Amino acid sequence: TLSERLSGTLANLRGKGRLSEADIDATAREIRIALLEADVALPVVRGFVARTKERAKGAEVSGALNPAQQVVKIVNEELVGVLGGETRRLRFSKEPPTVIMLAGLQGSGKTTLAGKLAFWLKSQGHAPLLVACDLQRPNAVNQLQIVGERAGVTTFAPEPGNGVGDPVDVARRGIEHARSTMFDMVIVDTAGRLGVDEELMRQASDIREAVQPDEVLFVVDAMIGQDAVATAEAFRDGVGFTGVVLTKLDGDARGGAALSVREVTGQPILFASDGEKLENFDVFHPDRMASRILGMGDLLTLIEQAEGAFDQEQSEKAAAKIASGELSLEDFLEQMMAIRKMGPIGNILGMLPGANSGQMKDALAQVDDRHLDKLQAIIRGMTPGERADPKIINGSRRLRIANGSGVSVGDVNDLVNRFFEARKMMKQMAGQFGFGGGQRSAT
Ligand code: GDP
Ligand code: MG
Repeated sequence: TLSERLSGTLANLRGKGRLSEADIDATAREIRIALLEADVALPVVRGFVARTKERAKGAEVSGALNPAQQVVKIVNEELVGVLGGETRRLRFSKEPPTVIMLAGLQGSGKTTLAGKLAFWLKSQGHAPLLVACDLQRPNAVNQLQIVGERAGVTTFAPEPGNGVGDPVDVARRGIEHARSTMFDMVIVDTAGRLGVDEELMRQASDIREAVQPDEVLFVVDAMIGQDAVATAEAFRDGVGFTGVVLTKLDGDARGGAALSVREVTGQPILFASDGEKLENFDVFHPDRMASRILGMGDLLTLIEQAEGAFDQEQSEKAAAKIASGELSLEDFLEQMMAIRKMGPIGNILGMLPGANSGQMKDALAQVDDRHLDKLQAIIRGMTPGERADPKIINGSRRLRIANGSGVSVGDVNDLVNRFFEARKMMKQMAGQFGFGGGQRSAT
């Protein structure tokens, strides 16, 4: 697996500074193989790896992870981001019914999905109607009706015995029916072919034209692997779609199709299906798919643990130093960096209880990120000796630091004075609450 290969590739270095090109290249090669093994299409792999390498070059080495782990972490974040970051939700029409049209190759799982989607929507309090517009195969209407019955929802179908019928007409009448009988959602099942063909595309795009759906979901079998790109492009150009559903994730496909479709079409993946039963269905989770594609859920867990352990180690050390009054500016900087990793400082503080009180708001307005940038620049401008023992920072040192970090001597004075005050206060608090002495007291 990728995890094993990577652990052999690089020594467990913990450094400072930037990731080296060699580290990044070595890890990128392994990631590339992992992506290809997951059946991601080659052009997509190339683009993705190139972008990730760029990002890794700018990244600072973390104290917690070795370079390989760090590149993997970046790749994973990038992958989760590309796959959609936060899940995109269904778009609902302001005027019901909301119309969802399904498109995709035959056998991709549209009809099955129609039932699952209806079942899921129903569980959320909606009243979905299935509309049978696959009039291509003799059995298709019946299959949808069975699926509908299982899901406990109504199916609108053309009257039997009327010949082949026009799917566009059925779609129109289905939506009319939904409107007049108070269904708030319509799921339009359409015909597919085994391969992409023009007539299929025209029919689907005629249906789309006629009913103006709020969502057109491109349903794609995750097992199709490399073919995902060509199929997705054909549907994008022939019908157009607003979202993607991946099916058959219960199979052994590593899920490369997800990345390929997403990269090529730019459309979000909304749902995932992983079995034939109604409940084998969920909104799409980018993070789970990312670790499936990279085949290294275990490695990601290790990375999280390493980071967690490191943070804990750091904060325990800091707590001990606080308690003894020995906190250095170096520690202070590290703590600050650790907090900043969590996001913009205003957001973090804003999550604290009471953050909306007037007093707290004023305080928050003062700790903006630019202020932190400045503090960081000043501390970086100090020698290690100065950081370790801020008492030695006399007047001439202050001038040098100010010049070196592009701030005024007043700014340096301010930082140093506030640091001493804070250190004193923290030491007192540490004494009161008993941390740094092993156990934290309960009250
Ligand atoms: P359609 O031609 O696009 O309407 O595809 P169907 O819904 O008829 O599905 C084709 C076959 O795939 C059927 O046998 C389904 O039971 C099966 N199928 C659909 N979705 C899934 C899934 O997520 N997992 C598995 N294992 N089978 C599925
Ligand atoms: Mg079908």
